[in-house]
Formats: sequence, C-alpha cells, structure tokens
Amino acid sequence: MSIEERLREVEGRIEKAALKAGRSPDAVQLVAVSKTVDLGRIQEGIAAGIKTLGENRVQEAEGKIAALGRSVSWHLIGHLQTNKAKLAVSLFDLIHSVDSLHLAEALQRQAITQGRVVPILVEVNLAEEESKSGVHPESLEPLLRSVSSMSQLQTLGLTAVPPFLEEPEQVRPYFRRLRELAEEMAKAQIKNIEMKHLSMGMSHDFEIAIEEGATLVRIGTAIFGPRG
Ligand SMILES: *Cc1c(COP(=O)(O)O)cnc(C)c1O
Repeated sequence: MSIEERLREVEGRIEKAALKAGRSPDAVQLVAVSKTVDLGRIQEGIAAGIKTLGENRVQEAEGKIAALGRSVSWHLIGHLQTNKAKLAVSLFDLIHSVDSLHLAEALQRQAITQGRVVPILVEVNLAEEESKSGVHPESLEPLLRSVSSMSQLQTLGLTAVPPFLEEPEQVRPYFRRLRELAEEMAKAQIKNIEMKHLSMGMSHDFEIAIEEGATLVRIGTAIFGPRG
C-alpha cells in the first residue's frame, strides 16, 4: 500500500473510533510520526494531506524542518534533554514531553530569550517504569503549579506512553487514568494551565486511546510502514 492509502485507512479508523465513542472525529488530531523516515516519504505524506508531523530527536527534526518547511506543524514527541532546549524552542509548535521542573525552567529561559510562547504538554509516566521518562502521577500537580508561574510556557494538557501490551485492550486502564488525571488537574484550576489535550495512542492502540478521550494520536508505523 502507498503512504496515501495507509493515511486514508488510518483516518478512517480514527473517524470510526471517535464516532463509536460518541465524539466528533474533528476532536482527534493526527500527529504522523516521521522519526527515521526519509524526506521523500515524508513529502509523499504531506502531499497526501498530513498536517502535523511528530519527531523524537531535535537534531533530526532540525534538518527535516529546514528541508521541508513549515507548511505543516512540527511536534516534539520524544524525550528532551535540557541542553537541547534552545533548539527545541526555536523549532517546535508543540512539545509533548515536558517531564521535569529543570526542563521547564530551561524552556522558559530560552523562550524569554527568543521572545516566544511555547505550547507544551506534560508527560506522565503512568506505570512508573524505570526505563521511561515522564513525571510520576503524584508529582504532576506540584510540577503544574510550578510551571503555571512561567510566563512563556503555555500548558495545554498531558501525554502518556503506556507500557506496550500485546492486546491493545489491556492498555485501556492507562489511557483512562491519564484522562482522569487531566480531569483532576482541570478541577484544581491552576492558573495558566489548560487541560484540553490528551496525547495518547500509537499505531498499535490508538482506537482504544480515542475511546478514552485522546485528542492527539501519535501514529508512525501504520502510516509510513515499519521503521528500518
Ligand atoms: C515512535 C513513537 C510513536 C509512534 O509509534 P508507532 O508505533 O510507529 O505508531 C508514538 N509516540 C512516541 C513517543 C514515539 O516515540
């Protein structure tokens, strides 16, 4: 199948999952994950209608953005090191992976220097996996309270990368937990903090994520094929 055919199929599945959950398909935005995908294939995807691309490495994204331009939005979905904050602030329309006060402070400093407001999501490590980034759930509210006073950071919601489980249905409790956390944080009414986005769901499990409230689904393999 061509990238265009796979994109149409994914869009159809997103629509179906949204309707099944009684949600508007327009409430779910596709982030096409183009990490490791070459420029030609990304261009094919853009020509087929992709509007938002997700990258997990700042330097890789820098080259691609220089080559392909900003007719599409670019999101950072992978872990961000503090020493790349400067470049990240200059490149991305949304950073999905803010997971520490230290990183938030670095982004705030760079955003002031560059005169930018940076939209961010806070990543939560729901299963408290050692190998993964993200704040533990009990540290979420304190982090949001600190970020709320950072003038240049616009917090729009939460991200999760739950454990990979063979059966997508087994991932549902994690997606549900992220939505509940977002609801709790919205109730806490922290100034400057919005909870309008939930970034969750990948090729393997995005339909379940949509049923549980995902507004941003990050899909790579199902669109561009297996990564080499
Ligand atoms: C690679 C990646 C994805 C996309 O994974 P697929 O299984 O290819 O859809 C989504 N989110 C993050 C954080 C990733 O690193």
